[in-house]
Amino acid sequence: MPELPEVETVRRGLQPVMEGAKILVAEARRPDLRFPFQPDFVARLQGQLVTGLGRRAKYLMADLASGDVLLMHLGMSGSFRVIKPDNDAAPGEFHYPRAKDSTHDHVLFRMSSGADIVFNDPRRFGYMKVIARNALDEEPLLRGLGPEPLGNAFDACMLAGACAGKTTSLKAALLDQRVVAGLGNIYVCEALHRSHLSPRRIAATLSTKKGEPTDHATRLVGAIHTVLNDAIKAGGSSLRDHRQTSGELGYFQHAFKVYDREGEICKTPGCNGTIKRFTQNGRSTFWCAKCQK
Ligand SMILES: [Zn+2]
Repeated sequence: MPELPEVETVRRGLQPVMEGAKILVAEARRPDLRFPFQPDFVARLQGQLVTGLGRRAKYLMADLASGDVLLMHLGMSGSFRVIKPDNDAAPGEFHYPRAKDSTHDHVLFRMSSGADIVFNDPRRFGYMKVIARNALDEEPLLRGLGPEPLGNAFDACMLAGACAGKTTSLKAALLDQRVVAGLGNIYVCEALHRSHLSPRRIAATLSTKKGEPTDHATRLVGAIHTVLNDAIKAGGSSLRDHRQTSGELGYFQHAFKVYDREGEICKTPGCNGTIKRFTQNGRSTFWCAKCQK
């Protein structure tokens, strides 16, 4: 499943061909993805100028001159291709192989920039929805999302406040989208490892009795920033040559310190522990018992 850095990389890949361009043709080639397309989906997109392409958590959001916003989610297996007369590009890299079968090309946007943007999704957990910008606050898909992990609102004080009194594990708290939006299994494992905190630690230990952040909270927020920024930076460098990216496994997996490394030696300097895996809330947790406390 694409995580926040991958979605941000896709955004940066689509931005040059979408922003400032008109959607000349919009095609939904089937009635639904994860949810049915709205009956007026195509009508509200066709002919519209895209004034900006943003991101909230794992949603791409294309602002339209009409006052609508096109919300796009990649789901489990969704990916975009940018097809230009002279090349075929796939922005973003993923931890899973990208589907190449064009029978799963479900949505097409023909842009006035000269590019065709194709959405491919074999498992169809992705979705798209057109929403009036002034109704975004009431949108159920977005309502209740916590702060962006790379935004100003997410800091040690905020995280400590959100975790105060919580008896769930630290890992479960970080996966809770109301606490922080857009973090998934991979980057939570990585951030906990880099901050040397156990995924089993009780979330409330990020906060003092007075509700102030402990050193753990400060360390954890720093680790979340570092791991996400590193992954986005690695994704950005992959955008320079789209041709290399299509169908390849993710670039950032080579930098994983803990995720998917069961049985291997811990990469923390001075620690020679072994990475272990266990199931937590139905997901695989990778950690080092020696340096994560
Ligand atoms: Zn270790």
